[in-house]
Amino acid sequence: MNKRDYYEVLGVSKTATDKEIKSAFRKLAKQYHPDVNKEADAEEKFKEIQEAYAVLSDENRRKQYDQFGHAAFQNGTASGAGGFSGFDFSDFDFSDIFGDLFGGGFGFSFGGNSSNRARRGRDRVISMKLTFEEAVFGTKKEIKLDVMDTCEECHGKGGHNETTCDECHGSGTIVSEQRSLFGVYQTRTTCPKCEGKGKIYKDVCSKCRGKGQIKKNKTIEVKIPAGVDTGNQLRLAGKGEAGINGGSNGDIYIEFVVSKHPIYERNEDDIYLELPINITEAILGCKKEVPTLYGNINLVIPAGSQNGDKHRLRGKGVENVSSKRKGDMYITLKILMPEKISRDQKKLLEQLSKTGLDNNIEIKRYNEYLRKNR
Ligand SMILES: [Zn+2]
Ligand SMILES: [Zn+2]
Repeated sequence: MNKRDYYEVLGVSKTATDKEIKSAFRKLAKQYHPDVNKEADAEEKFKEIQEAYAVLSDENRRKQYDQFGHAAFQNGTASGAGGFSGFDFSDFDFSDIFGDLFGGGFGFSFGGNSSNRARRGRDRVISMKLTFEEAVFGTKKEIKLDVMDTCEECHGKGGHNETTCDECHGSGTIVSEQRSLFGVYQTRTTCPKCEGKGKIYKDVCSKCRGKGQIKKNKTIEVKIPAGVDTGNQLRLAGKGEAGINGGSNGDIYIEFVVSKHPIYERNEDDIYLELPINITEAILGCKKEVPTLYGNINLVIPAGSQNGDKHRLRGKGVENVSSKRKGDMYITLKILMPEKISRDQKKLLEQLSKTGLDNNIEIKRYNEYLRKNR
């Protein structure tokens, strides 16, 4: 078996602190979670990351790993640590790590939980690409995804023709007596035949094979509010996977990835634009057509404008997704020299240069310094 080094998997050094390990794991897990990452090897990578984290985040396991490498956890060679052999995540709680990663309730189902208590359905995280305009103005989109849904055939029960369990006579538990030196002990265990329900079905549902759930390709229409940005999440409550044994449904979290605009930069609710103008426009002043989110406007550039001068257009930014207040638009002048000039233009510029254009305060200051320091 050719296993990668756990430190390498998480991209941390051998001396990494617990905090560094946790942070590296969170980052990678977010990147490779199979619900988010659709690449073919994402699931395998995700498992590898989990395994590395399960070992390196536990002081004892990490010590063993540092000493023996992967051999420490292979069957037969486990040296103590409670027979830690192979890998089983059922005893490992990832929930505190994922709890705040995707806004809470990130459902994982590790290991086989055979109890009959109601369990909430799994949450799903879906990444959604939006154009710049879709994010700013909001839109409607359809998402298609496979989720475990309640079986319509048996209404989630898993079978038909319910009868009282003949093993436990409907109690759901079985009492057995054990004799020992100290007397008779009664032990009460969950009935294995009905798994504690007290009822069984004569006919197992053929559609879901008794699971009560069935994989369904769902199409969900999503209304995306105006003002969302990359990294924002939209929660669709109850639209995730169906709960088990009467548990509530999971949620869907849609995480947005907004594409870049060709000329705008967005910072939260403000829009930034670099406006290119030529030298005569800057010197003489002009009116420039400027595209805003709400249509084109004519911006007055005053005579004597300098490179980097800023103009603010109040309320021409993005409408805030929660407060509905609009941000501003900031326009920065970028004065650009002509890349080529004609013979006539050159003549004119030579004439112009003789007229003395050194009256800018910074040029004056520099010339003054030179004169005093010769
Ligand atoms: Zn069914
Ligand atoms: Zn029973």
